[in-house]
Amino acid sequence: MSMVGLRAHAAFDVEALRADFPTITPDQIYLDSVASSLTPIPVVEAMSEYYLKFRANIHRGTYDLSMRASERFDEAVRAVAGFLGAAPEEIVFTQNTTHSINLVAHTLDFEPGDEIILSNLEHTSNMAPWVHLAKEKGLELRWYAADRDGSFDVEEFARLFSPRTKLVTLTYISNVLGTVVPVEEVGRLCREHGVLFLVDAAQAVPHIPIDVRRLDCDFLAFSGHKMLGPTGIGVLYIKLKHAVEMTPGMLGGGTIDTANCECPSLEECSIDYCSFTDLPHKWQAGTPPIAEALGLQAAIGYLQEVGLDRLAAYEHGLMQRLLQGLTEIRGVDLYGPADADQRIGIVSFNVGTIPPEEIGRILNERHGIAVRAGQHCAVNYFNFDDVQGVGHAAGNVRAGLYLYNTTAEIERFLEAVDEVASVLV
Ligand code: PLP
Repeated sequence: MSMVGLRAHAAFDVEALRADFPTITPDQIYLDSVASSLTPIPVVEAMSEYYLKFRANIHRGTYDLSMRASERFDEAVRAVAGFLGAAPEEIVFTQNTTHSINLVAHTLDFEPGDEIILSNLEHTSNMAPWVHLAKEKGLELRWYAADRDGSFDVEEFARLFSPRTKLVTLTYISNVLGTVVPVEEVGRLCREHGVLFLVDAAQAVPHIPIDVRRLDCDFLAFSGHKMLGPTGIGVLYIKLKHAVEMTPGMLGGGTIDTANCECPSLEECSIDYCSFTDLPHKWQAGTPPIAEALGLQAAIGYLQEVGLDRLAAYEHGLMQRLLQGLTEIRGVDLYGPADADQRIGIVSFNVGTIPPEEIGRILNERHGIAVRAGQHCAVNYFNFDDVQGVGHAAGNVRAGLYLYNTTAEIERFLEAVDEVASVLV
């Protein structure tokens, strides 16, 4: 970790911490960490150390370079496991959250008529794989319809279960509203009904501590690039029982103990004649993202050094000011609760009838502010009145907070939104 980083973390001195992020400049305000966070120097250093000092494939070489790379990679697996309260055998590296969810979709066995429960708050990545699978295999999707504010009623949700329910798959934090889905309670319901539970934690892992044992979920997915880590790496947590019992939906080098296959002939050979490699390799098809795993480990180290509790307290302060400021601007239509206690890291809104893309463009061109405009891949939240009644097809403007944002940036953002809104008067 860089010296700058160490100094910054001692007292959560945001200005010193910002020095770890070379992309931060005084003329730009980055409020799109929901899409992708910025990357601190220690993460880049961890990756370049691999490329410059022990660049080799892992777990296959009998030479020093490969063994060193393997040791470092295994260390990264243990760091991710520790971060989630999981065992290393339960951790698989993927490309991103989307890939992790698709791996589960390709792994589970479904019968026609089986049901999957999901919500209208899902990102396309936790919707499209299931919509496709439902069509292909004759499954029924049951949608929980949160209201525009994202409030989630567990009793109402419980009514969606039936004897045919096989899987519940939900986002932990809405990527439009920043509201928190009560996944622990849903996890308990899933246990009671003997139903599998997948948590899309893409927006949760960057901000709050995750304990997979407490959540008691079967699968949990997230991306490195939203939590200070590199692009090109995601994580799938698979509960040990399933990691042992299930056949991975993706196979290839590293997953099968090919040396010990007992096929009667080449024509008749199938994986039934082979055994899988030890966990977690059984699930890690092909060469994993090695440099990215080391970068992800560094990102975890960085977050742990800052402390997720301190990060949460700091972000909460920013959120309070942001919500208070936005609700005071005439013409601003806030989505989700105005109470900072009820949302994490994300705020979205419209300004009168100004198209969100237009607001995004003005904020960028006139004020150097990066926000996201549109539907944020939450297609069902915005598009389908029959699903829940929002029906605002143009989407909205979304601002995401992270540990490097400052109060001064929030003030500048509020002034800029105020200026945009002034044309309405
Ligand atoms: N799920 C949620 C809740 C998200 O917010 C996102 C990205 O914004 C994703 C899934 C997809 O993440 P990725 O593009 O890293 O696969």
